[in-house]
Amino acid sequence: MKERNITLPLKEMPRQWYNIQADLPTPLDPPLHPGTKQPIGPDDLKPIFPMGLIMQEVSQERFIDIPEEVMEIYSLWRPSPLYRAYNLERALGTPAKIYYKNEGVSPTGSHKPNTAVPQAYYNKQEGKKRLATETGAGQWGCSLAMACNYFDMECEVYMVKVSYGQKPYRRSMMEMFGAKVHASPTNLTKSGRDILAADPNSLGSLGIAISEAVEDAAGREDSNYSLGSVLNHVMLHQTIIGQEAKKQLALVGEYPDYVVGCCGGGSNFAGIALPFIQDNLREDKNVRCIGVEPAACPTFTKGKFTYDFGDVAGLTPLLKMYTLGHNFMPPGIHAGGLRYHGQSPILSRLYHDKLMEARAVGQEGAFEAALTFTKTEGIVPAPESSHAIKGAIDLALECKEAGEEKTILFNLSGHGHFDMTAYDDYLAGKIKDVDYPQEMIDQSIARLNELLGN
Ligand SMILES: *Cc1c(COP(=O)(O)O)cnc(C)c1O
Repeated sequence: MKERNITLPLKEMPRQWYNIQADLPTPLDPPLHPGTKQPIGPDDLKPIFPMGLIMQEVSQERFIDIPEEVMEIYSLWRPSPLYRAYNLERALGTPAKIYYKNEGVSPTGSHKPNTAVPQAYYNKQEGKKRLATETGAGQWGCSLAMACNYFDMECEVYMVKVSYGQKPYRRSMMEMFGAKVHASPTNLTKSGRDILAADPNSLGSLGIAISEAVEDAAGREDSNYSLGSVLNHVMLHQTIIGQEAKKQLALVGEYPDYVVGCCGGGSNFAGIALPFIQDNLREDKNVRCIGVEPAACPTFTKGKFTYDFGDVAGLTPLLKMYTLGHNFMPPGIHAGGLRYHGQSPILSRLYHDKLMEARAVGQEGAFEAALTFTKTEGIVPAPESSHAIKGAIDLALECKEAGEEKTILFNLSGHGHFDMTAYDDYLAGKIKDVDYPQEMIDQSIARLNELLGN
C-alpha cells in the first residue's frame, strides 16, 4: 500500500503565524476613512475591532506567536492532513504529483475556524461579550459561532436572506453553538431598513449583511465586529495552513512547483500560498502560486486595483484592492463563498506586483472537477473548493501535455456536505455557466469612480 496521508505530529505544529507584510517589496497602501477619505490610524478602528487584532492588521513583524489558548482549540482538528492524490493522478494520466491539504476536517468543515478562534480570543481578552458578523452560505457564521461558544461570548449573525432559505442546516448548526441568526436585510438596522424600503423583496447580499453587522457592532459598547476574510489579520491567521503543508511535504522530501487555491476574499489561498511566496521573496525559490476565481465574479482577472468600500452602504474604511465595485451584484452561482466584489489588499498587492497569478473558471467546469474528485479521492468538496480542484486538474493536464513531472499542491478549503442542493442541481443538468458581462463590470466601476471623484 502507498503512503497517502502525510500526518504531522502535534508537537510539530507551527507556533507562530507568518506575516508577509514584513517581506512585501511594496508596502500596502493605507486604508482611508469612509467620510474624509484621509488615511486612518489604529484608533479609528477601535469602535469595532479589538486592539490585539488592529495591531496585527498593521504589524510589520515577520512572525507572531499563536496564543496558547488558541493552540488548544486548534488542536481539536490541527495539524490537518495532507494527502497525495494518487487516484486522481491515475485518472488524469498525468506525470504530475498532486498533493492536497484538507481543511474540511475542522469542526465546521472549512478553513474558517483558523481565524474565527483567534478573533474571538482577542475580543474576549479585551472584555467584549458579543460579536456581530455576516455570513453568506453559512461557513463563516458557523465558524464564528463555534469560536464564540468556546470563549463564552454571544454571537449575532446576519445571514444573506437567499442562503437563510436555501441552507437551513447551516443555520441550525449556528444555533446549536448558541448564535442568534437573522435573515438579512433585517429591520433591526438602518442599513437593512433602507434596503427594504427600496426593495421589500431583496434577497440580500454579502455587502448588505456586512453593513448591518458593522452598524450593530458600532452601536453597542459590549460588542465588536468580526470579518471572515479580506483583512490582513485574517490572512495572517490562515498561514498556519501553508506552514504545516511545507513541513508535511518536507517529511516526504517534496517541495511544490505550483500552489493552488480558490479565491473569494482570498483567505484560504493566502493561507496556503503566503508561506511559499515567502520562500520566493527570501530564498530565491520559484513557486508559481495561482488563485482560482469564478468566471461569474472575476475580481482579479477583470477587476480594477483601486480604493473601494467593503460593504454596500459605504460604512467600512476604503481599502486599496482589486474590486468589481461595491455595488456589484454577483450572479447567484452555487459557490456562495466566492461571491464577493473585493479581494484581500495583501493578495491584491501581490497580484499587481506579479508575485502571484490568477485564473477564472466557469461553474460547470468546477462542478465537473468536483465529481472527478469525489469519484477518485472519495471526498465531496465544497463548491468553492471545486474551483481549486479544477485549477489543479488543469495544471496536471498541462503537465501531461508537456510530459513534465511537476509537483502540485492545492488547498481543499472545505467539504460540501451542506451543499447537496447544488450537487442535485448539477446532476439534474441545471447548472449553467454564467459569465459576468464586461459591460456590467464597467458600469459598476464607473459608479465607483464617480463616487470617489477619480
Ligand atoms: C468562505 C470559503 C471560501 C472563500 O473564502 P476565502 O476567504 O477566499 O478563502 C472558500 N472555500 C470555503 C470552503 C469557504 O467556506
